[in-house]
Amino acid sequence: MKYYSLNGHPKEVNFEEAVLESMAPDKGLFFPKKINPLPDSVLNQFHEMPREEIAYEAIKQFVDENIPEKELKRIIKETLSFDFPIVPIHDHIYSLELFHGPTLAFKDVGARFMARCLGYFNQKNTKKVTVLVATSGDTGGAVADGFYKVPGVDVVILYPKGKVSDLQERQLTTLGENISAIEIEGSFDDCQDLVKQAFLDFELKAALGLTSANSINVARWLPQMFYYIFALQQFKNKDVIFSVPSGNFGNICAGMMAQQLGFPIKHFIAANNENNVVHRYLSSEKYEPKATISTISNAMDVGNPSNFIRIQTLYKNFPTLQKYLSGATYNDSETKQILLEVKEKYHYLMDTHGAIGYLGLREYLSETQDTSSIGIFLETAHPVKFNTVIEPIIKQTIKIPESLQKLITKEKKTDLCKKDFEELKQVLLKQKK
Ligand SMILES: *Cc1c(COP(=O)(O)O)cnc(C)c1O
Repeated sequence: MKYYSLNGHPKEVNFEEAVLESMAPDKGLFFPKKINPLPDSVLNQFHEMPREEIAYEAIKQFVDENIPEKELKRIIKETLSFDFPIVPIHDHIYSLELFHGPTLAFKDVGARFMARCLGYFNQKNTKKVTVLVATSGDTGGAVADGFYKVPGVDVVILYPKGKVSDLQERQLTTLGENISAIEIEGSFDDCQDLVKQAFLDFELKAALGLTSANSINVARWLPQMFYYIFALQQFKNKDVIFSVPSGNFGNICAGMMAQQLGFPIKHFIAANNENNVVHRYLSSEKYEPKATISTISNAMDVGNPSNFIRIQTLYKNFPTLQKYLSGATYNDSETKQILLEVKEKYHYLMDTHGAIGYLGLREYLSETQDTSSIGIFLETAHPVKFNTVIEPIIKQTIKIPESLQKLITKEKKTDLCKKDFEELKQVLLKQKK
């Protein structure tokens, strides 16, 4: 499998190069040259297949000969060491809970898979690799956990100062060892821009052996297909609609890859907070990014989502895009209200991101008068990660799981940096020494 740059650079790369380089030399995202639908023999019986086996079938063409079958199967098995429960909420609406991994957000899947791929590639390299990653909240924790103590890999996490929750910040800043964090005086988009700039800086790239673990990296992005397929396994012969709380649009785009492989997904809803450039685009065909707005669903505070170009590439033209994708957008007060309503009426506590996914789904089903499809919203993080926002809404405390409890007493360690590339570069080079 070859990957090419969505900005048009002529160089094609294999999976290993795409993982190590993260982004093409022209800043373009890598995209598979060809996506082969799975054979009918797989698609007709995937409902009965073990999780690990179907995951292997889904991803193998994208990894290709770069990782041998036995190793890839081991990586998949280790990645998927937790559950992905489907919880009925009411009528034909279900929550797909993606927060049962070590850092309580869906990003564990991509981070664990990528860390293990990099670990495998690193066995033959003697040079150290530095994973530079921007986070709007949950990526950083998942990447820190996934790469913790992986030999030959250092991780540097950039996060927007004052814009991630306290528990999220602790997940980034308390591990130590090969993990370090830098607070940026700016937004997530600024952090993401700095990462992209770092990749274009030859000196920095050479000194640090830079790669990225954001969803621009194919090893972070593609394994997110798995849990859509696991969910579909439970609904044989049904039309299934997924509503995905979206920020950088990596997660939803992975679901669309599963659809391209032939898995039966009828429609997607991209549920946004007030950072809603895609929602506006879907009605106007005008793509007009705006400055990021801070919200209570901070992991989706992305003004200019990187992965949207992959979605446009998949669906090729505007009418096809509209056929498979709808948008939704809600403000903080709507988010709070629906969170409380579902808690009181159905006794199900959502987090602020899942709440937006739920509401997008419910409104879509009612607008389209669809009473036969199964609607699944992705519950992308555990509510406790946003306890300071959610507790006042529901007027209850949320129990902090033991795995997070130990973070509370640990000391946060972070560097501070302006949203200035030259300053960041100096900080990075200094850390390296
Ligand atoms: C990262 C994140 C999102 C957004 O996912 P994208 O792949 O960036 O669209 C949504 N919810 C939570 C809890 C997240 O951590």
